[in-house]
Amino acid sequence: MIVTTRHRMQAREALINWHRKTRPLVPKCGAKTRAGHPCGIIALKNGRCWRHGGRTGKGYNWHRLRWPKDGPAAELKLQRKLAVREKTAKERAARIAAMTPEERERHESWQRTHRSGPPAARAEKRRQREQNADIAAVVAKERLPVPASIELQIEIDALERRLAAVAGANINIFD
Ligand SMILES: [Zn+2]
Repeated sequence: MIVTTRHRMQAREALINWHRKTRPLVPKCGAKTRAGHPCGIIALKNGRCWRHGGRTGKGYNWHRLRWPKDGPAAELKLQRKLAVREKTAKERAARIAAMTPEERERHESWQRTHRSGPPAARAEKRRQREQNADIAAVVAKERLPVPASIELQIEIDALERRLAAVAGANINIFD
């Protein structure tokens, strides 16, 4: 097919129409930007854009900080990384210190439910949680005695949550 000027104009018009008519109706990311207003980039399924939580890293140790490999600039890179790490830790600590008790509770519960780790391990945990919830639903419906293993798991979960609370907000992608 030969692309003519007319085709280009049609494509251009379709794009302009989409931006005028459809784009305003599509859900937008509401993350607060450094400029202080909501981000406004088109949101992904989770309600945030690709920049503000739309993507999760891949690979086994995606959540761990990588140290630079040996090379001429390794020392400089390392120092820069350490400086950035320290700066973000300070900013995070200040943000947490400025939170109201409700905000803090919300923050901590998010930290508890969003543990970093390799994708496979997180998927396994998620599967276990779903399975436990299914069993709990059946038990509640049938009024069966709660199996000891589930009771133990609930206790383990509670203990893990307490452990997370003790560790505080130090659970982050650099742990
Ligand atoms: Zn965004």
